[in-house]
Parts: sequence; C-alpha cells; structure tokens
Amino acid sequence: MSEPQDHTSEMPKKETRVTSTVLDLGGLSGLSEEQVQERMLQEGPNELPAQKKRSLLTIGLEVAREPMFLMLVAAGSLYLLMGEPTDALMLLGFVFVVMAITIIQERRTERALEALRDLSSPRALVIRGGVHRRIAGRDVVRGDFVVLCEGDRVPADGLLRRGINLSVDESLLTGESVPVRKAASVDARELDKPGGDDLPSVFSGTLVTSGQGIAEIVATGLRSELGKIGKALEQVEPESTLLQKETGRLVRTFAIVGLMACTLVVVVFALTRGGGADVWKQGLLAGIAMAMATLPEEFPVVLTVFLALGAWRISRSSVLTRRMPAVETLGAATVLCVDKTGTLTQNRMTLRKLAVHGNTIDLTTLFTGLPEELHSLLENAILASKRDPFDPMERALHEAGDHLVKDTEHLHPDWSLAREYPLTPGLLAVSHAWSTGNGAEMVVAAKGAPEAIADLCHLEPALLESLSREVESLSSQGLRVLGVARGLTGQTSLPEAHHDLAFEFIGLLGFEDPLRPTVPAAVAECQAAGVRVVMITGDYPTTAQSIARQAGLGNCETVISGPELDRMSDEELARRMGDVQVFARVVPEQKLRIVNALKANREVVAMTGDGVNDAPALKAAHIGIAMGGRGTDVARESASLVLLDDDFSSIVAAIRLGRRIFDNIKKAIAFILAVHVPIAGLSMLPVFFADWPLLLLPVHIVFLELIIDPSCTLIFEAEDAEADVMRRPPRNPDERLFSRRTIGVAVMQGLSVLAVCLIVFLLARTGHSADSARALTFATLVVAFIVIILVNRSWTRSAFEMLRVPNAAQKWVVIGACAFLAVVLLVPVAQRLFYFAPLHPTDLIFSLCAGLVCVLWFEVVKHAKRHQGTWT
Ligand code: ADP
Ligand code: MG
Repeated sequence: MSEPQDHTSEMPKKETRVTSTVLDLGGLSGLSEEQVQERMLQEGPNELPAQKKRSLLTIGLEVAREPMFLMLVAAGSLYLLMGEPTDALMLLGFVFVVMAITIIQERRTERALEALRDLSSPRALVIRGGVHRRIAGRDVVRGDFVVLCEGDRVPADGLLRRGINLSVDESLLTGESVPVRKAASVDARELDKPGGDDLPSVFSGTLVTSGQGIAEIVATGLRSELGKIGKALEQVEPESTLLQKETGRLVRTFAIVGLMACTLVVVVFALTRGGGADVWKQGLLAGIAMAMATLPEEFPVVLTVFLALGAWRISRSSVLTRRMPAVETLGAATVLCVDKTGTLTQNRMTLRKLAVHGNTIDLTTLFTGLPEELHSLLENAILASKRDPFDPMERALHEAGDHLVKDTEHLHPDWSLAREYPLTPGLLAVSHAWSTGNGAEMVVAAKGAPEAIADLCHLEPALLESLSREVESLSSQGLRVLGVARGLTGQTSLPEAHHDLAFEFIGLLGFEDPLRPTVPAAVAECQAAGVRVVMITGDYPTTAQSIARQAGLGNCETVISGPELDRMSDEELARRMGDVQVFARVVPEQKLRIVNALKANREVVAMTGDGVNDAPALKAAHIGIAMGGRGTDVARESASLVLLDDDFSSIVAAIRLGRRIFDNIKKAIAFILAVHVPIAGLSMLPVFFADWPLLLLPVHIVFLELIIDPSCTLIFEAEDAEADVMRRPPRNPDERLFSRRTIGVAVMQGLSVLAVCLIVFLLARTGHSADSARALTFATLVVAFIVIILVNRSWTRSAFEMLRVPNAAQKWVVIGACAFLAVVLLVPVAQRLFYFAPLHPTDLIFSLCAGLVCVLWFEVVKHAKRHQGTWT
C-alpha cells in the first residue's frame, strides 16, 4: 500500500470561486513572482507552528504505559529470575519492536492527518502581477494584495486599501463578537490595535462578515497579531468516533475477562502442579501469556489506523475529511441534500434565449445580428452585472455582449458605478446605479428573479399573467430565467432600498447550465444504495423540476418552494419530507429547517453548502459537506467534509468509500476476535491438565499478536469494496459494529481453529516430544490464521475467487508469514528460541493441511447464503 504522503500535488487545484469585485483595482498590480520568492525566503511561509510534535520520549512514555508493554517487561523479568537469559533478552528486545511499530503507526496516522490539514487550511485570493490568483494561505507574503470577501478568513495582517461595506468579526482577538466596520485608507502605514470601527487594519484569522475589500499585507505568520498571541485556528483533529467509543467499551470488557482468566490460570497452574517457587514463577508466566492472549490492544489500533487511512483514501476522490466521525457516518447516510447549481450542474452558464414582449429568440439559431429591440435587454442586463464578473451568469452576459452588441452604443465603458443594490433573500434582484457623465442623471439597471423584477416594476395583473406564462415556458426547458428592468433617476434621489426606485420592465433572459455528465449515473447509484437525493436550489421551481428530471431524481412531481416552506409547521414539513425531492426558491436560512425536518424523520442527513448562511445547516446535518472550490471559509469550517471539486459524483464516491471502510473495519475486528479464541484457548487449556506441557509461551503469543495479527489487518484495510456495497440499503445508524451475527461468525471460526489445533496436539502428543507437539500445533495455528484472512476477505465471494482479486498487502503478509513459519520450524537457533523440536516432514504436512481446512466450512456457509440472498 502506498504511503499517505505528499499527495497534495495530486489534488485538483481548482480556482473556481475567484469572486471578483466591483472594486476598482486602480493600479494595484501586486508583487511579481521574483519579489514573492524573495520575501518567502526572507520571512518564511505565512503559518503558525502547528502544535508541537510529540517527542520520541513522550511517545516512548506513552507506549510504556501500554498493557502489552508492561506484560512484556514482566515476562522478561520473570525469565531473568528463572535464569533463562535468552528468553528474557528476546522478550525485552520485543519491547523495542513494540515501540517501533507504535511509532511507525503513529507517524503514518499523523501524516495522513497532516496532509488533510494542509488541504483544509484557509486559502487566499491575491493580486500578483496584475492578475487574481487563488493560493494557499501559507503562501501569502508581506506586500501581497489580498481580496477579501464575505465569509473569508483574513490570511494575514494587513491594511485595507479598497473597501465597500467591509465588516470583520475580530472576536478571535478581542473577544468582542459584534463585527467591526473597516474603512479603506490609501496611505495608512501602521497597524492599529484590533477592535474599533472605521480603521483600515485587518487581522489574520478574523472573519469577513460582509462587504469586500483589498488589503495590503504587512505582517505574516508569527509576526501577525494572531501569531504573537500564539493562538492557532481550529484544525483537523482526530475526534473520537462512535465506533471508537463502542470499541472502548469492548476493550474494557475484554480486559476484565482477561485479568480474571489470568489470575485463574496462575492459581490453577500452581495448585495442579503442586506449589513450589519455581512452579509459581511458571504459573505467572502462563498467566502473563494468557493476559497477552486476551488483551484486545489491536482493536483501538485498527480503528485509528483504518479511519485515518480511510480519510486519506477518501481525499483521493477529492473529498477532504475535517471530522473523523464523518468517515464512519458517511456509510449510514440515507438522504443527500445537494445544491443544484454547481453541484448537480456545471455552473457554466450560457445565454440561450432572449424574450421581449412575447418574442423569444434562440441564440443558437441566430445567424444574423441581434434584432434591435433586444439590444436594450442585453445592455441593461450587462449594466446590472459587475464589470469584471465572476458570477457565471454575469460572465455569460458579458460574453454575449462582446459577441452581439460589441460595436454599438450599448456598452458603456465610460460610465461609473454609483451604487450597487445587492441580492437579498427578500428580493432576488441586483441593481446597479450608473453615473452617465451626463449631469446628475443616473441610469439604474436591474436583473433578477422574474417575480422580483415584476415586483420592482409594479406590473399590471394582465401583464403579470402573460409574463408568468413566458417564464414557465422558458424554465420548463431547464433554463434559469432572469428578468431585466431599467429606471432613470437623479443623483440626489438614490434611495436606500431599490424597491423605492421606479423601474420599467424590459424582458427575460434564459440561461443554460448543463447537468454534469456524471450526475445521472451517480444519482442512480445513490438510489440503488437506498440514499435519497434531495435537490435544494434558489432557482425557480419549474427550472428546478426540469433539471431534477434530467438528473433522474425519483419524485420530481412535487416541488416545495421557499415561501410554501415558510408557511408549513415543522410537523407538516417533516411529514412532507418523506417523498418530496425538490425544493426551489429556497434561501440558505431555510436549509436548517429542512435538515431538522429530515432528522425528525430519523434520517441520516448529508447536506452541501457554500455560503456564510449555509453554515448552520452544515453544522446541523450529520454530515455537512462544504464546497472547496466555491465555498467560503466559514462554510468549510462548519462542515465535516470538504468537496474539492464541487462535483456531486465525488460525494457518491465518498459514500461508497465510507461503506467500504466500515465493512473493512468490521472484517478486521471479526478477524481479530476470531484469532484471539484459539490463542486464548491454547494458552489456557493446558493449565487445567497437569500432564500437558504449556503450549503457547509468551514468545509465541508475542509473535502471533504483535507481528502476524497487525500485519493481517493491513490486508483488510486495503480490501476493495464488496460488489454489493452500493446495492444494499444504508446501514442502520444504531447498528452495533459487533452485531450478534458478526461476533457469532467470528467466535465460531475461532472455535473451529481451536478444535483443530487441539486435535493436532493430541495426535502429536502420542509418540512425539512436547516440543514437537508444540511446533506442530503452532504450524497449524499460523496456517489457520492465513486461511481465516482469505476466507473473511469477502463475506459474499469465495476465498478461491478472492485469491484472484488483487490486494496490495495480501502477498506480502502471506509470504512473510510463511517465511517466518519456515524459519522457526526449520532453523535450529530459532527452533530453540521457540521451544520447538525438529519435525518429520509427514507430520508437518499433516499439521499444515489441518490448518488449511479448519475454517473451510465457512466457505460452504457463504455459498449457501449466496443462493439465499444477501446476509450482511
Ligand atoms: P442556486 O441555489 O441555484 O445557486 P441562487 O441562490 O444562487 O440559486 O440564486 C437564486 C436566484 O437568485 C436565481 O434563480 C436568480 O433568480 C437570482 N440571482 C442569483 N444570482 C443573481 C445575480 N447575480 N443577479 C441577479 N439575480 C440573481
Ligand atoms: Mg448559488
């Protein structure tokens, strides 16, 4: 298996949400590449040192507290007391092996988490060499011009050079939760103290709550205010998951049982073998062996490693895990609430249709110039857009303008923007007021949702009627429809709200935003997997419905609109939630109600979002998914997953992986459970029969538990998804990892191995020395381990089939285990260390074959179940 390192370079580096501004750059061209590199060399990256790396000593001390470690030391000392220095040395040597394994595993987990951390750290939009570039927050240097927008974290300390309505939440530094207003200043040189209105200073780590601005960075990294007070932003941390808690309980039970068994063994051993100091020491050894055999120390390790590596695997399909429990919850998701625009669709708009006074023109079939009566429509739509827009709709308008009305009097590069009325949840329209340079006269252009524009124009009922028919006809083709209006006013009479302006209706625009090509298949996959896809959009209901149909959503007949949703009670909404799959004209604030209604229905909800207002819903959902490309830092911080490519099918891929990881954890735990049964049995049983030699000594158990067992779990970690992962319903979130069936199967397998090993031992005991019998039994046991793995790699497909399914770890583990077995059985020095005697080939072959067949009955069960249907 490849190591999770340095794969950041494989991540798609998309620069989607490069929100451009209405701000005038006015000669801000920023640093050149050379200057940036020079600064970077001088001052280092813009980052705060992560929490201190744990030193080897701390890790060492932690390992030293592990029960397994203590057992090793105890057994080693006992051997020393008994005058067996070789055994003592070997066990004490293992102390280092345990340490090394622990450290390697920790490093690996750390590295996987670190890679995720890098990717989820805030990003910054800078102006360098005159162009906007989206870079990682750590690459910002002093002198950079950083564009700040609503929802962004300020990447470093700076002075605001341009700004419109910029407010920043500086509570991180001041404790004051009311956002402070910022005022741009061209010649400020010094940073002020955090807090206080109308200052130009902005500080690293604080959050832009509204407006936009461009700041010149003056202090980065440790030199920033945040760096000085040594505070770190919230980062990806390994939170403990439900699974881990459940395992914690299991480990405790095991430990108690183990301790009791261990005491029992010591006492029984000493009593049955007639007291004496030496006998007690041997009894203690047997007891320690027993404790080692029952200690379930692999469980927590398996969980941490599987979850961390799982998060890393998921990141390879462009989904970043910010909270570990999400890996586990993903597989249980029953509803997936997704945004339409950008997630299901490409968010690549093209202007397709123009409609004025009932005349509709399809631009794809337009071969002559644009008819004159449509010029004003396009002109005003462009006037109601940003000059250098990022919004795909506005970009499409500019493109169409360049194409269709280029050399006309309809584009006005000489006008200057006097005021912008932004989109609000109450009125889905944008208006721009322009100074024409012609006295005090102003031109106001508005575009927005048709009903909002109709409202602005105070249309007559009859006109409204025909308008809504036109809107229906355009939107039923899946087009996003905007209305356009125009007004004239004087400089002095610009009101606070655009509702107070007088507008005249011009016409409608229809934009096409094609579905992502992978969406229908991914939706179908979700449906097969019992995951309902719910579309949530701010768009018009008919448009939403049409796109939902194209995507193949199950029930597109009923659409609940935002206003309808407002009128519903929580109970009614919860009831309707059962079958409705399309929500339209929804504002982000309403997403929270949708999440809560779904949760009331006991659904496990995954929800996507990108804006500041989506944050509460992202937090409330079981799995909040933020858009990495378009999403604001706030949304990313509230989410448990970050979608790097904003693509719906990546979510589906993550669900599939989540299910696979859960399955694999289950298999690994079942495997560990199964192998503990014979190990415990073989160390315990001989104690009760005074004439039996001890079968498993600490050295054997150490090998079985510390080497073979952990490496075997790697096979499960790398195991591919079962063929039916996406064809079965979501796992019941209340389902215990250790269902009775799982435990039952595991224990049965363990018992059969134990039985076969005992038979081998009993047969071998007649006519062979104790050491030969022990060697033969051990050989059977190790072979049985390998067979248990092969058999359990899939609970649906046969082991013979699985041999052909590649698994990166399998080859190494199997070869390694066989090599190890060969060495201890055949090499004299190793033989002595393991208390083995040389074997006769026939005996050996017999015991190997016994190991091969002992769990084959499970293959028969699998075969039978397969013909009955699924069984997990
Ligand atoms: P979605 O959920 O599909 O992303 P939005 O919430 O972005 O929808 O937009 C909702 C509605 O607001 C759009 O259907 C459109 O009518 C209007 N709207 C969005 N952006 C703009 C804009 N830049 N100018 C005018 N109207 C807009
Ligand atoms: Mg949107």
